[in-house]
Amino acid sequence: MKKIIQSDVVFTNIGDPISNGGIEFDANGKILAVYNQEQLLQKKIDKKYKGFLVPGFVNSHCHLELSFAVARIEKNKGINNFIERVEFLKKSTPEKAKIEMIGKALEILKEEGIVAVGDICNTELTANPKKFSSIKFRNFIEVYGINSDLANKKIDEAKKLKVKFENCSIVPHSTYSLSSELFKNIENQLNNNDIISIHNQESAAENEYFQKGSGEMFDRFKNWNLEIPKFIPSKENPLQTISKIIEIKDNSCLFVHNTFSEAADFDFINQTYPSAYICICPSSNLFIENTLPKVEMIYQKAMTICIGTDSLASTDNLSLFNEMMILIKAFPNIPFTEILKWATINGGKALGFAEDIGSFEVGKTPGINLIEDVDVENIRLTDYSFVRVIK
Ligand SMILES: [Zn+2]
Repeated sequence: MKKIIQSDVVFTNIGDPISNGGIEFDANGKILAVYNQEQLLQKKIDKKYKGFLVPGFVNSHCHLELSFAVARIEKNKGINNFIERVEFLKKSTPEKAKIEMIGKALEILKEEGIVAVGDICNTELTANPKKFSSIKFRNFIEVYGINSDLANKKIDEAKKLKVKFENCSIVPHSTYSLSSELFKNIENQLNNNDIISIHNQESAAENEYFQKGSGEMFDRFKNWNLEIPKFIPSKENPLQTISKIIEIKDNSCLFVHNTFSEAADFDFINQTYPSAYICICPSSNLFIENTLPKVEMIYQKAMTICIGTDSLASTDNLSLFNEMMILIKAFPNIPFTEILKWATINGGKALGFAEDIGSFEVGKTPGINLIEDVDVENIRLTDYSFVRVIK
């Protein structure tokens, strides 16, 4: 059945927001028309809402399989403590409990108005639950291992895992956790249309490890008896170093976190990777390192920003709306319309789903969310704003 709904403002993500605009959609949520106030005078409106109508949200970076770790790791203890705790919990949590929490996380994502997720996979635990979800998934089969003699074993395991998922590519975990042999193995099996995701500059220790071959990260690897790659120290930052080892500039790339990236790092990304997305995970960054990336700088450099929640190990919930609220409060000079694009259409582009989601355009099925308790006059959210799924 077709429906026409109207709200105080409709954010289509193409063109200006429409005051008292409306959208028409079918039973599947496919957009049939977008109307301005005048056009709506000739139409029978099924429902008029107070608030902002916005397209469904895109969570560009998540680790659904870590959902079991919710509320089990202490905040603000740094990346080293975080990684050690996650590894401990991974080993000590039964598989049944892990699968149960993945199911719950999928329900939360739906309730939060999220229509697509970029999800990191180290195991096949999420493969089956995803088949029964209406959410679109871009799956990243993540590989790590800095001991060079494991490079072939690691890529073989990733290839076996890849066949269990749809819409997926094999990607490096981070700049620091692979040997040059393993980076090469990933490059050798890449297709140009594979999307890459890589954790970048999540801690200050990562920069020090590359620049000087010292610091907390270096010490951790030494303590674990890992083989420090020959390219360490490189006297350069992480991406400058690995760009000489793995060739991914023909691929769409999500650089995730960038919490300790500076202007030179962003300029390097701009110059080196033509299809780069800067994926920020505000609540996770606050949880682990108690800091945020230089978001205003990234915005001023006109980079394409998208937003992720990261896993429930490092955030209390998987709400993209919550991430938007953190950004709106921390960076009041950035317009809401811009942050909304990061949470919707930019994520859709980053994950390769923009043909169908991210904006209210005829023919798309983007999901429809309503943000209530808003400041209509100034087109802003308030401390009391909340989101409700309409379709
Ligand atoms: Zn992550």
